[in-house]
Amino acid sequence: SIYGDYIKSVIRTVPDWPQPGVNFRDITPLLQNSSAFRKLIDSFVHRYQEMELDAIAAIDARGFIIGAPVAYELGCSFVPVRKKGKLPFRTVSETYTLEYGQAEVELHSDAFRRGDRILIMDDLIATGGTMLAAAKLITRTGGQVVETATIIDLPEIGGSSRIREAGFGVFAVCS
Ligand code: 5GP
Repeated sequence: SIYGDYIKSVIRTVPDWPQPGVNFRDITPLLQNSSAFRKLIDSFVHRYQEMELDAIAAIDARGFIIGAPVAYELGCSFVPVRKKGKLPFRTVSETYTLEYGQAEVELHSDAFRRGDRILIMDDLIATGGTMLAAAKLITRTGGQVVETATIIDLPEIGGSSRIREAGFGVFAVCS
């Protein structure tokens, strides 16, 4: 994206957080900078405005921050993909493996209609496990995953390749 380098410059890397050896990409400086945040949202809106999306499925919790304004701007619906146990109505879920243990993402069973064109959004792709679980869950329940979109891809970890190998497109504003 044209703003990729600029967006990258306003993301902070915090060493050894949440544990030693991890370089955490902190997007809060980007959110604090109103012109950077606008350029970020505009980058997604520009890419998806002609794609006739029915819904944006955004991943709990930082995916919500970008998914909601993009859905508002595109005039499509917003679907939260949540961590296990947060949604009150009937749910469908997908379990995936983490480095240590397992995690689960959930959707309301009435979140979208069969055949709906859906964009999945999250802030960052590392191993790709979270995004892939969301993509599988949406596909399994009859949604058409148009693409997956993120602010930051960490290509050296291999998540985006994994997602593409599973047949889903990946758009990253910066990497
Ligand atoms: P993955 O499932 O691809 O390994 O990890 C991506 C998920 O973990 C995303 O939901 C993302 O919010 C979170 N995550 C992992 N590492 C980071 C990081 O360095 N910065 C941010 N902002 N989120 C991260």
